[in-house]
Amino acid sequence: MITYYEKNKERLKQRTKQWQKENPDKVKEQNQRGYQDDWVKKNPDKRKETLDNYYEKNKLVCNERNRINYQKNRVKYLLRAKIKYEGQRNKLYIILGGKYCVKCGYIGTALNFEHINNDGAEDTRVIGNTKKQVLYYLNHPEEAQKKLQVYCANCNWEKELERR
Ligand SMILES: [Zn+2]
Repeated sequence: MITYYEKNKERLKQRTKQWQKENPDKVKEQNQRGYQDDWVKKNPDKRKETLDNYYEKNKLVCNERNRINYQKNRVKYLLRAKIKYEGQRNKLYIILGGKYCVKCGYIGTALNFEHINNDGAEDTRVIGNTKKQVLYYLNHPEEAQKKLQVYCANCNWEKELERR
């Protein structure tokens, strides 16, 4: 069944646009009231569909705009990612008992997550780089407590030399 809206889609859209043009203050007011946010919350699927359609139709423009936007805000994004990663590391320290070397008691910035059974290379192969491992162990805290401990760079290196 074709709804009234579908039948008159273009005309209604035009009318909405016209109304918005004539009533900029009211549009602003609606936006401020979170009118659109409410709609998005109630219709997440429709919202996603609209965005997907828009992206499909405007791929080049979107990609270019994203690229420029990224270039413009690169430092901000990198900083945000760094802060997020630091936060994740701090959570993992807490899971493992604290932000200090369990061998010598060192407190500072030169701390590592050390693989108790020297299976770090295996983790790199299966899970990925350190960032991915931090995220993985945050989601598997019990496994983290079994496999990881906090070591300072010095104790870490000593253990490595003893192992060789
Ligand atoms: Zn240490």
